[in-house]
Amino acid sequence: MEKMLAAVFHKGDTQGGDIILEEVELPRITKSDHVLLEIKACGICGTDLKIMEGGHPANDNTILGHEFAGIVREVGESVQDLEIGDKVVADPNEKCGYCINCRRGLSSLCEYMATGTTFGIFQNGGFAKYCVVPRSVLFKLPENIDLTAAALVEPLSCAIHCHNLADVKEPDNVVVIGAGPMGLIIQSVISMHPIKRLICIEIDNWRGQKALELGADHLINPESQDVKSEITRITERGMADVIIDAVGISDTFEMATKIWAPGARLICFGQDYNAEAKIKPNDIVRYQRKIMGSYIGYPEDFLDAIELIVNKAIKVNKLITATIPLDEVLSSGFKIMKERKCVKIIALP
Ligand SMILES: [Zn+2]
Ligand SMILES: [Zn+2]
Repeated sequence: MEKMLAAVFHKGDTQGGDIILEEVELPRITKSDHVLLEIKACGICGTDLKIMEGGHPANDNTILGHEFAGIVREVGESVQDLEIGDKVVADPNEKCGYCINCRRGLSSLCEYMATGTTFGIFQNGGFAKYCVVPRSVLFKLPENIDLTAAALVEPLSCAIHCHNLADVKEPDNVVVIGAGPMGLIIQSVISMHPIKRLICIEIDNWRGQKALELGADHLINPESQDVKSEITRITERGMADVIIDAVGISDTFEMATKIWAPGARLICFGQDYNAEAKIKPNDIVRYQRKIMGSYIGYPEDFLDAIELIVNKAIKVNKLITATIPLDEVLSSGFKIMKERKCVKIIALP
């Protein structure tokens, strides 16, 4: 039996677990609507680290990696519209299309998906040479796209989704709290659109500088500066019209509610399963503020993400800070992630 190298999650006794590089059997097509992909690139996500540390659920004995692009190598008999050699990218979150949320146009909240179906988290994903997925999760890519760049499509779709929900308008002062990989990708998307100012709040110096490189106009370090008075100084008239919390802990949520203008939109993007925060409901009522969550993306956000990459509208070279071979995904990829000096690291199986 032919084998391949894969980064496999093994659950620990309590929470989290280990990711181990091991030889596994090559996957095979078992259903007529399935497609066998040769993975060409797979991004490392903060979620992969959280899985290891116990901050995000995942299935035992699963190949991780949910940000992958590749080439079609085999198709099931009912797959009519993909051919061997086609370039594709996967939406790892398979949507059913018929649950109440899908039918109301909220497919990122699909009930089927909520049962734990994500490829690279609950089913085998992209940290391997090959992967089998249903045709329905694949987006066909143009022939001229660089597949390493295409590994950015999934995180970029989440950032586009967030930007759309924030409904950013030209005179807005926009604040992004957190310049981790997703905070930085969100800032790149926002900075492509006309806005008044983009302000980044970040503790880490490397990440803060990266935010300035990717389009932020101002940087505030909450460890050495008073956030509220800095925002007031920079925005001239007071506060932030749009705030995106790309961290999602109690402190960042409460920080957001100290700097929001009347009529502001606060978008909660970063996820922490245990965070709790205090809020005065009257601060929302009296000033007509909005708080909403942004969770993954819709299929149309994938299409937009593909277009941004194909048209070179997004600075792919600045977003991909390292590419590494699959056998270094643990020794070098996860290590750089932990050191925080990166935007996206892409593994090349
Ligand atoms: Zn991810
Ligand atoms: Zn659904």
